[in-house]
Amino acid sequence: MTSRGELDRKFIAAVERLGRALRFARQQIATTHKISLLQLQVIELLAAVGSRRVGELASELDVTQPTVSDALAALEQKGVLQRERDASDGRATVVVLSGSGLALAKKLATELDPLLDARRATDDDEQAMALRMLLEEIRRLQVDGVITVNRSCLTCRHYRPPNRPDTGHCRFLDVQLADRDLRVDCSDHLAP
Ligand code: SF4
Repeated sequence: MTSRGELDRKFIAAVERLGRALRFARQQIATTHKISLLQLQVIELLAAVGSRRVGELASELDVTQPTVSDALAALEQKGVLQRERDASDGRATVVVLSGSGLALAKKLATELDPLLDARRATDDDEQAMALRMLLEEIRRLQVDGVITVNRSCLTCRHYRPPNRPDTGHCRFLDVQLADRDLRVDCSDHLAP
């Protein structure tokens, strides 16, 4: 019988395999548009959150500040993004997508959708349970210091876990959060 340790290793190996496949899909799209994978990730992130300081982008993408600065410089040169004053601190600047950057982000999302939206063999409940398991794993990796930024419900101060038969609950938005409703990257997330 498979031991718990072996099961954990198989779980991680499966997640890594999935990660590699998704990375390959993204790389293909990036190459088509003559941008790097990191540049594509920057565009995706800015399209989702609006604006970020350079240091924040580096943390969220788990790369160093010089690395993300190189990617930003290349995108700036292509006219994909621009810098603006940070509304919360006039001395700081944030990076935002330009008009053509937003158009590119939309195009990338349209091209990525069919690749990321696999025809799943699992039913809805299994898929929702898998989502919770993955978010649990991400939380564990954050606790272990492997990743720095995690804005999912499971690490949010507003989240009240399920107390069966009740589902979980978001105290900030005052909505029920069944496993399928858990957010992976929430702009209202409050770190514990
Ligand atoms: S604020 Fe966002 S991350 Fe936090 S519990 Fe609510 S939905 Fe989840």
